[in-house]
Amino acid sequence: MGRKLLTEHINVEGIETFDVYRKHGGYASVEKALKTMSPEEVVEEVKTSGLRGRGGAGFPTGMKWSFLAKPEGKPRYLVCNADESEPGTFKDRYLMEKLPHLLVEGMITSSYALGCRTSYIYIRGELMYILRILEKAIAEAYANGFLGENILGSGYSLDLHVHPGGGAYICGEETALLESLEGKRGNPRNKPPFPAVWGLYGSPTVVNNVESIATVPWIITNTAAEYAKIGVGRSTGTKLISAGGNINKPGVYEIELGVPVEEFIYSDEYCGGIWKGRDMKAVIAGGSSVPILPKDLILKTAAGEDRLMTYESLSDGGFATGTMLGSGGFFVMDDQTCIVRHTWTLARFYHHESCGQCSPCREGTGWLEKVLHRIEYGHGHMHDIDLLVSVAKQIEGNTICPLGDAAAWPVAAAVRHFREEFEWHVKHPEQATSPGAVFNKNASVLA
Ligand code: SF4
Repeated sequence: MGRKLLTEHINVEGIETFDVYRKHGGYASVEKALKTMSPEEVVEEVKTSGLRGRGGAGFPTGMKWSFLAKPEGKPRYLVCNADESEPGTFKDRYLMEKLPHLLVEGMITSSYALGCRTSYIYIRGELMYILRILEKAIAEAYANGFLGENILGSGYSLDLHVHPGGGAYICGEETALLESLEGKRGNPRNKPPFPAVWGLYGSPTVVNNVESIATVPWIITNTAAEYAKIGVGRSTGTKLISAGGNINKPGVYEIELGVPVEEFIYSDEYCGGIWKGRDMKAVIAGGSSVPILPKDLILKTAAGEDRLMTYESLSDGGFATGTMLGSGGFFVMDDQTCIVRHTWTLARFYHHESCGQCSPCREGTGWLEKVLHRIEYGHGHMHDIDLLVSVAKQIEGNTICPLGDAAAWPVAAAVRHFREEFEWHVKHPEQATSPGAVFNKNASVLA
């Protein structure tokens, strides 16, 4: 049984209230940081822990904090990115709903480290019920002296606000989020300058994911050295994984980084195996934008080693044979899943969510959707398969924000690993036109 750093008390009755949370050690990191540590020491501790951003990019959190420009008379801001919208990812929502005070505590300790007087939680517009849960937790923190003026008599003051988005996926991109928070249309900004220099209202800003911020209290309370003992190599600590798809036990799991993928999928502690006794065809390991991998490559690296749930092991082999841990949206597909239809569904999503600022993304995502549609519905040609790869290549790396890559990678990977399934759709239009028709590699017929 792996250690639970974030979710140890998640099932305690009333843990969403200040009193119960406090009884279980809540807000200890605020007391420790404000009474015994300088802001620089808190930053150093987070750096030493090796914590990496849990939103998807995996960039070291402490290093990101240390990039923050000197104040020079301007305020500095911490913004929590709670705009969780990546298909297949639902861990932040779970954490905020069940443990709102953990996020509030993390915001206070992190804001103190960064020298912020005002901080924000930007939450996905569809999660209004969680916004209310967070607002209640924030009100309790104010009432108990953990927010507002002169927190715990330390001389440090902080105001914390929750702000809902309008439901656009692109507002999860940090500069689009800041634009939206400023009250403008959520279009990603050209970079540089990065938010650490020119962020919210033109001030130095750090944008961190919910899970990253919620991990800070444990690190500060229990020390970075203890945190760094968990995990493997540069993948330290635990990670929340949103497991979904054709498995017996979908849900959110906190794992110690380093668990073998095979154990995660098949053990009863986690996913409990593939549903209905079927075989596994493929996995998306880190949210819809990371490359899909077939069964053999998700379980073993190209060198034949066990694939582990770490940043390094999942990306072993690059995109030729690897993928990414990403946001931890772990989506399992059984052998009855149609990869062409699945890829088309994702392409529709990214086309719909493109903000339209740059042409490779605006036009390219539309092309991907259209070409995939005609293959799925029996009007495709063999050269369409290469056309998909060509369009994906022309989007990748040529856009203002990562949505372009997020749209291109799943398509390129699906063709790379499941080309014969695309070819089968082209060769058998009469069968492929039936939605949900599935190429079965072994039987070569519809399942
Ligand atoms: Fe907008 Fe797409 Fe360009 Fe991002 S990549 S700025 S979503 S058009």
